[in-house]
Amino acid sequence: QKEIHLVNRPEGMPSKEDFEFREKELSSLQENEVLLKTLYLSVDPYMRGRMKDVKSYIAPFQLNEAITGGVLAEVIESRSASFKQGDIVTANLNWAEYNVANEHSVRKVDPSVAPITTTLGILGLTGLTAYFGLLDIGQPQPGETVVVSGAAGAVGSVVGQIAKIKGTKVVGIAGSDEKIDYLLNELGFDAAVNYKKDSFKEDLEKALPNGVDVYFDNVGGDVSDAVIEQLNNQARISLCGSISSYNTEGEDIGPRMQWKFIKTSSMMKGFTLGDYAQDFPTGAVQLAKWLAEGKLKYEETIVDGFENTPEAFFGLFKGTNIGKQLVKVAEP
Ligand code: NDP
Repeated sequence: QKEIHLVNRPEGMPSKEDFEFREKELSSLQENEVLLKTLYLSVDPYMRGRMKDVKSYIAPFQLNEAITGGVLAEVIESRSASFKQGDIVTANLNWAEYNVANEHSVRKVDPSVAPITTTLGILGLTGLTAYFGLLDIGQPQPGETVVVSGAAGAVGSVVGQIAKIKGTKVVGIAGSDEKIDYLLNELGFDAAVNYKKDSFKEDLEKALPNGVDVYFDNVGGDVSDAVIEQLNNQARISLCGSISSYNTEGEDIGPRMQWKFIKTSSMMKGFTLGDYAQDFPTGAVQLAKWLAEGKLKYEETIVDGFENTPEAFFGLFKGTNIGKQLVKVAEP
């Protein structure tokens, strides 16, 4: 069986040469372990940060070792009393066709709740990120205006929909006309603006006649500068990600436009999902309920084939995905 190793620390945009598919024999199954066949892999922007050898909230990937991430898998063989053959599970596992895992490191997925892939998206890490980052930091109030960048992605598309559920006016920012159409016509955003157009700043200003009360930031950089210019008094900025700088080398820039924050008494707060670990069950139950009630919709972009995993990962930085980007590795 094959697994994907990081063999170079990418400089700038990652490329195929940074990854290698290597044959690896699995260890034999011990007591309390399960043998898992990978069905789907999640590729996520935060993984780019783990490819750098820097101190962060999560350890860097090691060179010449398998990359790890969110995996949805089927139990093929079990020496655990908690799992049987055929069970669908999720865990943080190697980017590999098969994994051997301890029973305590995997969680069972109930296929009757929703399609199993939602475990890696709207009912998993990205849905929870949207839920806590918006509601705890953003505190959106009915009638307010919420802006979300990276709006057509896995996190952003859920942020905008939760903001609608909370009775706000929602403006999304994304990078293609297809995505703008999706936000307006599928997800019911009030306005959506393409940041790749020359007219972006004027278009954004037009979409924000009442300014910005909450900004959920997935991208940082120039897009965020344009939003910050429109902040209202007492605005809240939830700093979730800054994908526009993940592939840039050299020194990071410090916060910009401080004066705008001072003038408007606005608050900017960063977070990582782990901050809310204790509250995951509450968030997951609420997301599943909204999904079942039809109040939340989701989209997935699925790349077929384990061998295409690196390409799927690169796609995140090219914007080829709408909703959650997944890789389908095998049929259940
Ligand atoms: P997405 O599904 O949103 O995929 C990434 C998207 O980012 C692309 O589709 C692309 O859309 C956009 N993008 C890529 N490059 C740029 C750029 N230079 N400028 C502006 N937009 C760009 O990914 P996720 O939903 O998984 O993650 C969204 C953000 O949330 C990321 O920044 C991620 O790191 C962060 N995150 C943070 C967590 C936390 O705990 N704080 C947890 C999970 C995610 P487009 O076509 O619109 O450019």
